[in-house]
Amino acid sequence: MTALRGELLSGNLSGVIDPSIGYGEQLRSRADALATLCVHAGEPPGEDGSLDPPIVMSSAFAFESAEHAARAFRGEEEAWIYGRWGNPTVAALETKLAALEQAEAACATASGMAAISGAVLTACEAGDHVVAPRSMYAESARLFRERLPRFGIQTTFVDGDVNAYAAAMTPRTRILYVETPSNPMLGVVDVAAIAALARTGANRPLVIVDGTFATPFAQTPLAVGADLVLHSMTKGISGHGDVIGGVVAGSAELVSRVRDTVIKGFGGVLSPLSAWLVARGLRTFAIRQERACASAAALAAHLAAHPRVVRVHHPSLSNHPGHALARRQMFAYGALLSFEIAGENAVVRGRTVLESLRLATHAVSLGDVRTLVVHPASTTHSTMPAETRRLAGIQDGLLRVSCGLEGAADLIADFDRALG
Ligand code: PLP
Repeated sequence: MTALRGELLSGNLSGVIDPSIGYGEQLRSRADALATLCVHAGEPPGEDGSLDPPIVMSSAFAFESAEHAARAFRGEEEAWIYGRWGNPTVAALETKLAALEQAEAACATASGMAAISGAVLTACEAGDHVVAPRSMYAESARLFRERLPRFGIQTTFVDGDVNAYAAAMTPRTRILYVETPSNPMLGVVDVAAIAALARTGANRPLVIVDGTFATPFAQTPLAVGADLVLHSMTKGISGHGDVIGGVVAGSAELVSRVRDTVIKGFGGVLSPLSAWLVARGLRTFAIRQERACASAAALAAHLAAHPRVVRVHHPSLSNHPGHALARRQMFAYGALLSFEIAGENAVVRGRTVLESLRLATHAVSLGDVRTLVVHPASTTHSTMPAETRRLAGIQDGLLRVSCGLEGAADLIADFDRALG
C-alpha cells in the first residue's frame, strides 16, 4: 500500500485547528489523524512478502536491455539507475513523509543542514537576498551569515514578526526564511502572514519553513501557504536518536528542483539504512509526539511555578509571546522548552542543574526517546557571536530541554531534585 486512499482515513488532515478543545484532546485527535499514515503510507511489502520493506543496499541497478537503459536515461521510463539518483527504500520513506506533510512530494536528504543549504541554494543565485530570523539554530545562522555571502547571497536578520520581514524585503529577495518554533527560544512566527507577504513581493520570494522543533505532528506550514517545509529528521521524525537525516517537502515541481540540486548536484543523499531507520521510527511517530508534547507542557507549567526558575519559554504558557498564534497555527506546542534559572551566577547554577539531573541526559540534539538537556550558550549556540545571541534573547543561563518518553511525573521530579 504505497498511496493511502482517502476513504481509509477518517481523521482531520486538513490543517484546521479547533481552538475550543482542551490540549489533551487536541493532542489525541492529531495523533488519531496521523497514526494510520504513520503505519501504512509508503509501505510496499517486500517481493518475498516481508512486511517491513527491504533495505535495498545497492549503488547501481541492472538494466533490462540497452533500449531500457537509453529510455531510462532519456527520462522516458521510470527506472532505478544509480543510488545517488534514487533508491527504493529512500523513495518509500519519501512517500510516508509527503503523506504526513500533506505535500505533493518530499525529498529525503543526508541531514537537516543538507536540506536547508540545498533548499536555499536551489532558490538563490549570486546577487540574491534572503530575509531570515535572528533567533534560529546556530548552524543555519552561520550558513546565512558566513557561508552564503561568499557566493554573493546576502541575508538581513530580523525579529520574527511580519512587519520586520516586510521592511527588510528588497526586489532581490528570493527567500523569506522562517524557523518556527525557533531554537532555542521557542519563538513562534506567523507562517500564513509571511506567505501572504511573499505574494506581494516583486519577485514572489519563496517561503521556506524549518519546522524541526514542531515536526509534522504539531504544524503543517504548507497548508497555510509556505512553499517548502523542511526538517532535520535526526530529531522527532526519526525519534530514537540513532540516525542523521533531513527532508524538504512541497510541490512536486519545487521538490524536484531541490532534489536535482541537493541530491544529484551536491550529493547530499540519505543512505538506504538511514531511510529504513527513519521509516521505522515514523511508524510510532504520532503516539511518541502525543506523549512528548504532553510532557513538555506539563514540565513547562511546573517549572513556570518553580521559585528557582525565572522564565520558561514554551508556547503552551499563556504569558509566552507566541501563545495565541501557536493556538491558531499549531496542533501541539511541541516537545521542546527552555528556561532560565533565577538569581546571581545563573551560568554556574545552570551547570549544577545539568550535572545533577539523573533521568534527563546532558547531550545536544533533540526529539530523542530520552529527555535531553543542553546549555545553548556554551554548546549549540556557541558559534553565534555574543551580541547576536543577546539580540536573539538567548541568555547565558538558558537551558534547553527536549522532552522524551519517560513518565512526566518522573521527569518533573528529576528537575525538582536538580533545581533543589
Ligand atoms: N534545524 C534545527 C531547528 C535544528 O535544531 C538542527 C539541529 O539541531 C538542524 C536544523 C540541523 O539538523 P542536522 O543536525 O540533522 O543537520
